[in-house]
Amino acid sequence: MSRSVAIIGTGPAGCYLAQALLKAEPELAVDLIDRLPVPYGLVRYGVAPDHQGTKAVTRQFERLFERQGARFFGNVTVDAPLLAVLREAYDAVVLAAGLSSDRRLGIPGEDLDGVIRAGELTRALYDHPDAARLPKLGRRVVLMGNGNVAIDLLRLLAKTPEELAGSDLGPEASEWLARSPVEEITIVGRSPAAAARFDAVMVKELAKLSGVTVNVVDPGTSDEPEGMKKIDALASLAATQGGPKRIAFRFSLTPVAVEGERGHVAAVRFRDGAGAERIVPCDTFLTAIGFEAGADALRRDRLLGEAFDPEAGILAQGLYAAGWFRRGPRGTIPENRTDAQGLAARILADFGNMPQAGSKAGRAVFAGRPAIVTYAGWQCIDAAECAAAQPNRCRRKIASRAEMLQLAVRIEEPQA
Ligand SMILES: Cc1cc2nc3c(=O)[nH]c(=O)nc-3n(C[C@H](O)[C@H](O)[C@H](O)COP(=O)(O)OP(=O)(O)OC[C@H]3O[C@@H](n4cnc5c(N)ncnc54)[C@H](O)[C@@H]3O)c2cc1C
Repeated sequence: MSRSVAIIGTGPAGCYLAQALLKAEPELAVDLIDRLPVPYGLVRYGVAPDHQGTKAVTRQFERLFERQGARFFGNVTVDAPLLAVLREAYDAVVLAAGLSSDRRLGIPGEDLDGVIRAGELTRALYDHPDAARLPKLGRRVVLMGNGNVAIDLLRLLAKTPEELAGSDLGPEASEWLARSPVEEITIVGRSPAAAARFDAVMVKELAKLSGVTVNVVDPGTSDEPEGMKKIDALASLAATQGGPKRIAFRFSLTPVAVEGERGHVAAVRFRDGAGAERIVPCDTFLTAIGFEAGADALRRDRLLGEAFDPEAGILAQGLYAAGWFRRGPRGTIPENRTDAQGLAARILADFGNMPQAGSKAGRAVFAGRPAIVTYAGWQCIDAAECAAAQPNRCRRKIASRAEMLQLAVRIEEPQA
């Protein structure tokens, strides 16, 4: 009998790991488990809906289930007791469960009404089953952060409805954006433009927007080629003029407080590089300053029954960690691939030093468990979403877990 591996989490980390394992050892029994009824983690719920090219990585992941024999067990939340069962049942268990708590600024006023965090907003915009309702926006938005997620949000808030054609943005979110009162967005970075975290290509994409007027305030210069790429990308926005939505890029501003009026955000107070105070009035303060272990770390430690050492890829014999769960919430989809290849080699090497295979229950532990979504079940959800796509959209995501389960749970996986 072949060895068995349970991977908890079907985001890029889990899927790339399954790919690497099955490429090296096609006989392995590789099972991917997710708490959601649908696979692919942040590819589905983080990557922007107008970046379908990036989402197309799921076609590679589909091959795992359609050709390479991996199995999907959706709608299964792994907690500490289930983790213990899986560790008994499989030769290796890998935690690839991601991390996605919004990082907090740690400044006074950040819990006022009108302060919105990027993770909360993207989950609501992208129809995550556990998302809160879409928040109310004002006319003047300050968007704190200079990473790619901040640029995604800037682009979505700035696009005209026509410019969202071909995306998978749902009808409620589309309506919310089309009716948004936003007139002005000031995007603020702590560092100088040359040290911003965004990719130059993401900024250049903004030059295609038809409804905006962009002003880049003091981008500065750089001796480094990488820094100059970013400054040149910002310079390419100089011709983006005449549209009704005003966008201003500002750099080297550290937020020190969110000012409120009657419990609602009214301005953000910053300190500039020379120590002078700058106040930017706004009625919405959107923070996209990255993600942190935060509450997720508690979830992670509870799952493991002990504090987690983020440097460790190997947690105990037969128990491994991958992707954002291991490294913290930083890095792109391709970075998980590189990571996965190293981990797959390590797991296979460990198998070489273990007693003979064959005694473990493997996927039999799921027999009789109610409401599991198989890959065939996910294909039903997928087909229903694509069939329900409205004009100018490539799919209409189902946000309700109950609706997904209704479509999926009675579908048996064909036996491999
Ligand atoms: C808003 C946003 C936009 C992004 N856009 C891009 C982009 O355009 N391009 C790019 O290259 N990178 C992008 N990234 C980064 C990319 O999404 C990450 O590098 C990648 O998703 C991390 O992969 P992961 O598998 O570790 O985590 P995730 O993708 O988060 O997957 C974790 C999976 O584990 C599941 N899970 C969690 N807990 C449990 C549990 N207890 N039991 C079972 N399952 C569980 C989750 O449901 C999820 O499916 C973006 C990130 C964010 C947050």
